[in-house]
Amino acid sequence: MILDMFSLKGKVAVVTGSDTGLGQGISRAFVEAGAKVLGVSRSASKATQEMLGEENFSYVTADLSTLEPVEMIINTAVEKYGRLDILVNNAGIIKREDSIDFSVDNWDLVMNVNCRTLFFLSQAAARQFIKQNSGGKIISVASMLSYQGGIRVPSYTASKSAVKGITMTMANEWAKYGINVNAIAPGYMATNNTEALRNDEKRSADILERIPAGRWGTPDDLMGAAVFLASSASDYVNGFTLAVDGGWLAR
Ligand code: NAD
Repeated sequence: MILDMFSLKGKVAVVTGSDTGLGQGISRAFVEAGAKVLGVSRSASKATQEMLGEENFSYVTADLSTLEPVEMIINTAVEKYGRLDILVNNAGIIKREDSIDFSVDNWDLVMNVNCRTLFFLSQAAARQFIKQNSGGKIISVASMLSYQGGIRVPSYTASKSAVKGITMTMANEWAKYGINVNAIAPGYMATNNTEALRNDEKRSADILERIPAGRWGTPDDLMGAAVFLASSASDYVNGFTLAVDGGWLAR
């Protein structure tokens, strides 16, 4: 039955950036759809665990600006739950500075978290899926700046444009193993990531004026797309970046 295809019952997911914002919403969606989730974030995902229950959600803390925790993350999921079916690369940071003054540190940090670790974590998950001979789902969180230039965020734009590109590369190479690699491009969502924008009255009004839906998005708005791309309902969707943006890109 069609709704059964959206079920994540018996599935095991790793969700990065699970302590707050969009990653917390995606973790909730997966648990509600029946999955067990291992969350990964810089600070402990205690609030998410309280929300979802210890039996459904556990977490590790890790700094994803280096590759050092990659193996530990995959191993922890497999040791705890016996397998891995879904990886969500949601952890990400943004640094705002005029491009003319932009620092090397702000370039490297953003590229490392948003792009370098994202790729190597995906590679580690794909190796696990191949070892299990099970197929699997990899979902990365892209951005409107996978399509547009943005202002004062050169490393963020570079990283999110790269996410859209390597999503296609990985999909091309791993579809033959039953691995679906896709991305979600959120529009302007009310989380920590956009706090500076929302506090800037003019930028906030300009952004709102351009969103056909007439409001900022919320973590709940991503839940449907995340479950779709994590479930067998999307088995023939490969390498696509799905915008969930209240119509921003349609303008
Ligand atoms: P957020 O700032 O609330 O969350 C960022 C998450 O990334 C946190 O969970 C944090 O723990 C994790 N993280 C950051 N650096 C890390 C590191 N070095 N090691 C481990 N974890 C780290 O913002 P959010 O909006 O929930 O962001 C989630 C994702 O969505 C990001 O990739 C962001 O770029 C993307 N995104 C957000 C928006 C938006 O409008 N909010 C729009 C497009 C894309």
